[in-house]
Parts: sequence; C-alpha cells; structure tokens
Amino acid sequence: MSVTALLRLSALGDILLCEPVVRVLKEREPRRPLIFVTKERFAEIPRGWPGVDQVLALADPIDGRALAKLRAELARLGVDRRLDLHNTLRSRRLWPCGALRLPKHRLQKWLLVHGRALPAAWRGDPGPLWRRNLRLVGVAEPGAELRPRLVVDGRVLRHGARLHVALVPGAGFATKSWPEECWREFLPLLLEQVEEPVLLLGGAAERDLGERLAALAPARVSNRCGACSLSESARLLADARFVVCGDTGLLHMADAAGVPGAALFGSTVRELGFFPSGDSLRVLEIPLSCRPCSHVGRSACPLGHLDCLRRIAPREVLAACLAAEAAC
Ligand code: SF4
Repeated sequence: MSVTALLRLSALGDILLCEPVVRVLKEREPRRPLIFVTKERFAEIPRGWPGVDQVLALADPIDGRALAKLRAELARLGVDRRLDLHNTLRSRRLWPCGALRLPKHRLQKWLLVHGRALPAAWRGDPGPLWRRNLRLVGVAEPGAELRPRLVVDGRVLRHGARLHVALVPGAGFATKSWPEECWREFLPLLLEQVEEPVLLLGGAAERDLGERLAALAPARVSNRCGACSLSESARLLADARFVVCGDTGLLHMADAAGVPGAALFGSTVRELGFFPSGDSLRVLEIPLSCRPCSHVGRSACPLGHLDCLRRIAPREVLAACLAAEAAC
C-alpha cells in the first residue's frame, strides 16, 4: 500500500500551520494512509486531525539512534512519499534523499535580519508559512477556505462562548514577550473594562510570571500557565471573548479559531511568515529600523531597551481588542 509521511517536528505554531496540507492531501487521496511525524510534546495536535491516520512521536533528545529507529519504522509501514516540512539537518539525516522539502528561504531571512538597508525587493518576501506549506503540495494560490483551522480531537473549534478573556503573557523568546511591567499596567485597565474572568495561558516556563500577574487580582485572574494540555488551551482560547498574545504558538490557535484580539509583534516581522492568516486579530507593532533583529527570536534585546514591544501601549492593546471584537 502507498503511504505518505509528513514530518514537522516543532514548534507548535509551525505544526498548526501544516493543517491545510493534511486536509488537501486527504481530500486528494482519501484512501492513502497519512503518517504525521512530530515531537511527543506536540503530538496531541495532529492526533486530533481527521486526515491523519497515525502519529509517530519522538521524545527529546532526538539522537541518531532515535532517527535510525524512526527510519526503520517508516520503512516497515511502507512509506513511499516523504514530505519534509521541517527541513533541517536533523530531518535531512532522517531522509538524506527522496523527500519533498519545504524551501527554508534562508537567504531571504538572513537578508531581512542583516540587510535592512537594502531595498525591500532585494530582500524578498517568501510569504506566510501556511501558504508556503501548501505550495509544496502544488496549491499555488490557496483561497481563504484553505486557511489553517483549529481542529482538536476531530472537531473544528471556532470562536464561540465568550466565557472569559485569555491572555498569553509569555513566548518562546524574550524579544517576543511583552514585558511584565506592560502586563502589570494592562491588567487594571482590562479589569475596569470587562466583567468576565481573565485566564493566563501558556507553558510551564510562564508559570511564575503567571503567578505574579494573577496575584494582582486573585479573585478575577486565574493562572493556567503550565496547567493545561495543548487541547485544553485550544478550547479555552476558542471560548475566549478576546485574546492578547505575542508571536507564539497560541497565537496561531486563536487565529485559526477566529478569536478576536491583539497580536503583539516585537523582534519579528510579517515577512518571516507568522503573522495571523485571518482577520480576527489586530497586529500591533512599532516600526523600528532595528526590526527584525532575528528570524526566530532572541533571549534579550541586543540594544538593551526592547522598544519594539515596550512601546506598544497598554491602552492601545485594549482598544485594539475591543475594536477587533466589535468587528467580529
Ligand atoms: S528593540 Fe529592536 S533590537 Fe531590540 S529586540 Fe526589538 S527589534 Fe530587536
């Protein structure tokens, strides 16, 4: 039997942006089994997609032995079409040849970060990642119906119950995270404006930050950072009245579910491919000449001030959320 394997090991946002590819492949060949290869900590997401027949999950660290075992398992399962949407040294080590690989546009990314003085046309714009993923499987001009959807346990989640406000205070890198003092200024403004409970969402790395922020108004703000699975976070986001988040995986969940809110972009820019694909989130960014200073994010601002995020005013964030909500 012919079998397809699609590989995207990390991170959460990148995996969520593979959902349209799975949908397209399954619609084209419903009987062809599709295996999704990813890291164990993200595996619950593709496991919930109806187009995925099997998930092969790798635990960290992924060493040579784990790759050899995976290669043998894929051969045993009869994989004869390989889609490498990760395209790193590690994925090339797994599949040295015979895989269709997502172009990484490394030169364009390098020029975006290091060649800011060059004309924009020279630096290029490879386009949003979800569209690039689809181009790899021959969809040149995907329409809105192929935007990523938030699918959890076989169900498409859409913005709905408006039970609470969701805040995502952290991100994988400091240069993608709105500073704590900004959240501290934002929270009282928010609590004046809304009656719903406020939930703080994120991973274990944000647990302490969440505790400090929740302590500002413990009766109304609940810290769920590090306490929810990815599926639970997805459901809480879909049920939010609105959301505030940075350039992080949960942004793509909120975006895919059509949740209104504000997306705060610091050291990264649209051309890197991770801006919202829908129109429910309002992007807030400060047009500084130092942006982007990295194509993924940094542990600290190289200029020491983090003005790209610090200058996004809490009042503007709240106004953007309310405007986005009104437009929904
Ligand atoms: S202020 Fe400029 S240099 Fe500092 S993190 Fe933001 S984009 Fe990078």
